Amino acid sequence: MGGMTNGTVLVTGASRGIGAAIATRLAQDGYGVVVNYAQDAEGATSVVREISQAGGRAAAVQADVADAGQVAAMFEKAGAFGEPLVGLVNNAGSIGQEAPMADQRPDALARLVQTNVVGPALCAKHAIRAMSTKHGGTGGSIVNLASVAGHTGGLPHLVPYAATKGAVIAMTKGLASEVAEEGIRVNSVSPGIIDTEMSARPSARQIAETSPMGRMGHPGEVAAAVSWLVSNNASFVTGTDLTVSGGR
Ligand code: NAP
Repeated sequence: MGGMTNGTVLVTGASRGIGAAIATRLAQDGYGVVVNYAQDAEGATSVVREISQAGGRAAAVQADVADAGQVAAMFEKAGAFGEPLVGLVNNAGSIGQEAPMADQRPDALARLVQTNVVGPALCAKHAIRAMSTKHGGTGGSIVNLASVAGHTGGLPHLVPYAATKGAVIAMTKGLASEVAEEGIRVNSVSPGIIDTEMSARPSARQIAETSPMGRMGHPGEVAAAVSWLVSNNASFVTGTDLTVSGGR
């Protein structure tokens, strides 16, 4: 990745689903994109290939966002691309164990919080160090993927997931205040039910059909909102959560 550019944006969990759509959209917007993944190297490679074939700039970087050492190494690699980091999209997330609270396994709960809450915090920590005007950077934008579940408490048997997304919304608001004077904006997007592997359960489609617009969202419809929040068109927008849900 090099040449005259708009800078680099790092997108976590970009090997498929919403993250892949965000990476593709940001490459179209002119950013160099770091396509992060944890397991799905093939998916990440194909996202990078599609971006390159369309004339964009992207590189795949493996890191489990729940692992502090791997996150640090990922940001070091991103810093070596020769473009300043101007954005972080905290998209990687897990749905956790689908079960009533009474049956939740402690190890699954801990892993869920580590991935959905600690992961975005670790990535934000490194992105702030790279982008903050206090640390010699030129500022930037952080967008966190929350969920309608974080506002409503979510669906039965997915309560821990909803709790992690509520935490993401709180982290967004608090962090936005903390770094506002360092040239960094922090916002979140709360999707409703979006057509990805995460929502592959038949019940998800049925619930989407009862929403005002009567359908699931497409990953690209979430990517469009993220694109705006990353861009300078949202230059006076920080600490906000944008619902992208077809009306619910
Ligand atoms: P998805 O299809 O399950 O994809 C998840 C992505 O995250 C994959 O690229 C996966 O890559 C990556 N990932 C998972 N754990 C990771 C980890 N520990 N470190 C790095 N990458 C990791 O999910 P999605 O539906 O696109 O959801 C994306 C985000 O939107 C999530 O935060 C989700 O909670 C949120 N969201 C989704 C919906 C929906 O209806 N789909 C609704 C509201 C909010 P690997 O396989 O390589 O690990």
